[in-house]
Amino acid sequence: MAFKVTAFFMHKNQLQGNPPRVTVIGAGIAGMTAAIELASKGISVDVYEKNDSPGGRGRLFRQDGFNFDMGPSWYWMPEVFENFFNKHGEKLDHYFKLIRLDPSYRIFFANDIIDSPADVKGVYEIFEKIEPGSSQFLRAFLAQSKIKYEAGMNDFVRRPALSIFEFAEWRLMKNLFKLDLFKSIERLIDHNIRDERLRAWLKFPVLFLGAKPSQTPALYSLMNYADFELGTWYPEGGMWKLFDAFYQLALKRGVRFHFNEEVLSINVNDSLATSLKTKNGNNEFDYLIGAADYHHIDTVLLPEGFQQYSDIYWSKRKLAPSALIFYLGIKGRLKDLLHHNLFFDEEFEQHAVDIYDKKVWPAKPLFYVSVTSRSDDSVAPEGHENVFILIPLATGIADDDTQREELLNMVLKRIENKTGCRLAEDIVFRRDYCLRDFVNDYHSFQGNAYGLSNTLDQTAILKPSVKHNKIRNLYFAGQLTHPGPGLPPSLISGETAANLVLKKILRGSH
Ligand SMILES: Cc1cc2nc3c(=O)[nH]c(=O)nc-3n(C[C@H](O)[C@H](O)[C@H](O)COP(=O)(O)OP(=O)(O)OC[C@H]3O[C@@H](n4cnc5c(N)ncnc54)[C@H](O)[C@@H]3O)c2cc1C
Repeated sequence: MAFKVTAFFMHKNQLQGNPPRVTVIGAGIAGMTAAIELASKGISVDVYEKNDSPGGRGRLFRQDGFNFDMGPSWYWMPEVFENFFNKHGEKLDHYFKLIRLDPSYRIFFANDIIDSPADVKGVYEIFEKIEPGSSQFLRAFLAQSKIKYEAGMNDFVRRPALSIFEFAEWRLMKNLFKLDLFKSIERLIDHNIRDERLRAWLKFPVLFLGAKPSQTPALYSLMNYADFELGTWYPEGGMWKLFDAFYQLALKRGVRFHFNEEVLSINVNDSLATSLKTKNGNNEFDYLIGAADYHHIDTVLLPEGFQQYSDIYWSKRKLAPSALIFYLGIKGRLKDLLHHNLFFDEEFEQHAVDIYDKKVWPAKPLFYVSVTSRSDDSVAPEGHENVFILIPLATGIADDDTQREELLNMVLKRIENKTGCRLAEDIVFRRDYCLRDFVNDYHSFQGNAYGLSNTLDQTAILKPSVKHNKIRNLYFAGQLTHPGPGLPPSLISGETAANLVLKKILRGSH
């Protein structure tokens, strides 16, 4: 190993001398965060990425004048991104302009429409109108969600979750009780709200966490605080602007990116990872951060005998859903759709059974439609709309072109029934994306879109570990490890992995 501890000394938080070399696998948000953290401390960082651009699941593709964000479209918890940039002496508004959407989103129910107002006072009014007395519960619920958000996002998720003793500290123990880890969010909501529309509205944010509300701890009502209080935002130009900001900052800090350079295997010697193999040869490093899908690194890239988890362990993980996505360029304007639209016009329970229990293609799915061109002219040619349709699907099922087609026809009809918008006749561009694309593009475990479900038995130390147990210089980041799926958690996982590496470097050990 080339790295000699004695070659370094600390000065003003910077490592000088021959910097240690860290390699990161994957240029998603987790990998880029880890790279920025370490490069800012004077460490030499290389990022290897299989695809041709940064952003991972949040990449951009341009076609015929349309700019399509491939994955994330909900910009929530803006302070997590801002704080990260501030910490690195940068202002995020230097990279893009953030606008708050109002209404935040529209929900189409079977016989009704609710527009979620950006001002929480408007939310209370709607609750009260639909179910008198319910706004009182909502106030108390949101006050609790704020406490959970603050304890959860500032403390709980920022611990590396390597041992139960990290959570044994009195301050956190006290908070853990407030966090409602052992009660389901469904119980909490259903016990207090009778109206099915209001119940669905309150349960919607936890759908991002990839499990049924009946199996999601009430801790995650922190997502309702993020929704109603912190707001739904949009970076002008598209979500890719966020990933581009991370990329630009990483370049500024001296990170070297190797795009179109898939990691084929990791070499291990004497319980240390020493180099990785790509099409261009072997590349050595002192520390490795695996920020590609954890399962792929564990089962494909590591040599036999160094797997962190068994096949049985992986087969028992509960995965968040995959997705069937359609990127559509539409001629004409769609005035009855907002930037974000949720179609809750069918039974959620039946769709959830198809995703999580039966694991089959859904018969009558709920779905989501984003029309970014409703608030941004730059993402579609004049007189056109940029439409993204997402249908949550079970992971691990066989991809099927006929099913893709049938589901597209079904959702287009349902959009037409609810809004009068006849999209089918005006499609000028179409691209589909589904299970096999997630596997081909990201080596995604069973074609997952959002990693592992955030159920109690897959929380904190019960998630795949941030640290490899047998390989002393290998750490993991990304949505399959603690704290879990979504952009803010994945960012935090990158910070955690980088901090663990940094601690080791400063201690002068592997
Ligand atoms: C359709 C969709 C919609 C979403 N919507 C939202 C949303 O609205 N808001 C939100 O907050 N979150 C959303 N998410 C979740 C969020 O996008 C993810 O949690 C987050 O982007 C994961 O980041 P990551 O860095 O862990 O992984 P990734 O983004 O997957 O990055 C991992 C990278 O590793 C690369 N890689 C894999 N194997 C190799 C290899 N062998 N060699 C080199 N590179 C490799 C991959 O190509 C990829 O670029 C969405 C996700 C999807 C898929």
